[in-house]
Amino acid sequence: MSYIPELFASNVFDAHVMKERLPKDIYERVMNTVESGAALDIEVANVVASVMKDWAIEKGATHFTHWFQPLTGITAEKHDSFLSPDGNGGIIMEFSGKELVKGEPDASSFPSGGLRATFEARGYTAWDPTSYAFIKGNTLCIPTAFCSYGGHALDKKTPLLRSMQALEKQAMRILRLFGNEDVKRVQTTVGAEQEYFLIDRELFKKRPDLIYSGRTLFGAMPPKGQEMDDHYFGAIKPHIAQFMAELDEELWKLGIYAKTEHNEVAPSQHELAPVFTTTNVATDQNQLTMESMTRIAQKHGMECLLHEKPFDGVNGSGKHNNWSMSTDTGKNLLEPGETPSQNVQFLLFLVAVLRAVDDYQELIRVSVASAGNDHRLGANEAPPAIVSVFLGDELTAVLDAIENGSLYRDRAKKYMDIGATVLPPFPKDSTDRNRTSPFAFTGNKFELRMLGSSASIAGPNVVLNTIVASVLEEFADRLENNKNFDKDVITLIRETYAAHKRIVFNGNGYDDAWVKEAKKRGLANLVTTVDAIPEYISKKSLAVFKKYGVYSKEELKARYDVKLGSYYKRINIEALTMVEMVKRGYTGAVVDFEKDLTAMLVQKQSLGMDVKDNFEKRLLEKVSTLSNELAKRTDALDALLPKIGTYKQAFDAAKYCKDKVLPAMNDLREVVDELETMVPGKYWPFPTYGELLYSVQ
Ligand code: ADP
Ligand code: MG
Repeated sequence: MSYIPELFASNVFDAHVMKERLPKDIYERVMNTVESGAALDIEVANVVASVMKDWAIEKGATHFTHWFQPLTGITAEKHDSFLSPDGNGGIIMEFSGKELVKGEPDASSFPSGGLRATFEARGYTAWDPTSYAFIKGNTLCIPTAFCSYGGHALDKKTPLLRSMQALEKQAMRILRLFGNEDVKRVQTTVGAEQEYFLIDRELFKKRPDLIYSGRTLFGAMPPKGQEMDDHYFGAIKPHIAQFMAELDEELWKLGIYAKTEHNEVAPSQHELAPVFTTTNVATDQNQLTMESMTRIAQKHGMECLLHEKPFDGVNGSGKHNNWSMSTDTGKNLLEPGETPSQNVQFLLFLVAVLRAVDDYQELIRVSVASAGNDHRLGANEAPPAIVSVFLGDELTAVLDAIENGSLYRDRAKKYMDIGATVLPPFPKDSTDRNRTSPFAFTGNKFELRMLGSSASIAGPNVVLNTIVASVLEEFADRLENNKNFDKDVITLIRETYAAHKRIVFNGNGYDDAWVKEAKKRGLANLVTTVDAIPEYISKKSLAVFKKYGVYSKEELKARYDVKLGSYYKRINIEALTMVEMVKRGYTGAVVDFEKDLTAMLVQKQSLGMDVKDNFEKRLLEKVSTLSNELAKRTDALDALLPKIGTYKQAFDAAKYCKDKVLPAMNDLREVVDELETMVPGKYWPFPTYGELLYSVQ
């Protein structure tokens, strides 16, 4: 496909376009802003805006929008047209520097967790020049941060940028200690692999649960699930292939290098892997990817399900957050080095991550917590809710050798002194690659696998960046004051590993034995969102976020409230949907079936047939018992719901949903799923799992 180089990023106002179109000095000042994060002068902004507008109009754009990520986890846009009256009854196409750098959307329609007092009901958006503007449809989209007039971050991008700065500052200190004088910048990098389901859109439209909640709230397992593995290894179906081709093309235009040709474990499940970039851009790109998937799927007569657990009993969808740190000189700080000194540096960064994850396990857990992900974490297909780190046997042996002061024996059974020798290369794709670890080292990066498929990746990356920054700061403080650097750094690696190796677990995370073992090691096991969420606003959490200016106390509390709010609102919607589906759908189906069975019985009786132990009679009795149960459990669930809205504290409402509403939902589902196995298809009001999962060709 020779046109790809031309297509790639063709809808992005990137460095390339800017270099070509901006006056040299303006281009340099913009790039300087991109690199230093400094504010842009209005004169510069005016020039950029004008050039950007011309470029966008050439590409067919008529509108522009500040594109931002409020706390809802999805993206928001407010479109304005370029058109302005020219004062003589005509129009001109206008876009000023002021409009580029600052916007004023009506903030009151976005959740703020109480951050926006009424006197500052308006918020503003500010251009983030580190993420390039792009064109979507007929609109020039300008990636922006979203803040209140009081300066509180109302979005996901602002804290992410702050956390990247925090990490950069501390990582630079460490790099200087190792004599890396040429490095000017350190950025965290992320590649977010996205899992999703594609189902037939006509069938989707017949399922109120999918429409309202993104997941099926009822549904018996079809005779065939994912046990044959034939989908994973099978060829991609023609219809899906067309979708993927268009998705690839759309994403390439947006400068997202995606490889989408990949089926996943469950039937109808797929995965998209992008090439990694800075955490900030990766977050924007992942949002764009999810948006594009949804839109393009619909165009192809399908619906893209991004929910963490659309089908009970079938694998859920996650988002694998591959995370590392990179220098502007192109060095990945989690890549084992080629010289002894580089290796020590690598090991120091590695143990810094280990310690950060151990010290702040609860924060990592809470950063991936949501009502949807609760159905996935800890189930047998997803990482457990216990946070641990997979290092692999080889790297563990290296660190063990350092801890014990012994020599490391490599695969060829050669002994080596780690401090003085080059580390052996770690195979990236070793065959024993662990798939069950929530946080796995995969050769040159860590892969956080706990994140749910629908979530923004911002949250967990804010946590990772901040907690690693905090450990690196302690390391730098200690090493900067030391005389014998070479020796002290090894001591630091040894001590850190010894103190935090409890977080390392290379075994099977799905095993029950691990739960017991983790408990013995003192690791947290926060099973649900409600269990995990108090950790978000714990003293420890607040201290680390405040120290690096990532979240203020108010900003953190706001996110806590929004998270809880979306948890209980989601469950409330699900429960209401269940009640509606029963009352308007299942009840009628069951009654019709009972009616026909009864009629048949009466008929047989009138013919003088003995119906005492008759098939219809036995079936009718079974269905009738279940339909009574159905009514009872529906009423029980229904009766619980009004209370949700009466709690003053969001936490109490969430806890009530978890303790009372979710179990009642499960009880109700149980009867309906059992009825589904007895009531013939012609009565059944909604498409079945079998139809949903095997419909797309
Ligand atoms: P694997 O074999 O582990 O799946 P891949 O090379 O296919 O490895 O990468 C998986 C994901 O990790 C991709 O999205 C890729 O871009 C990302 N990735 C690779 N290197 C890095 C890195 N240094 N930082 C962040 N993400 C990375
Ligand atoms: Mg992966």
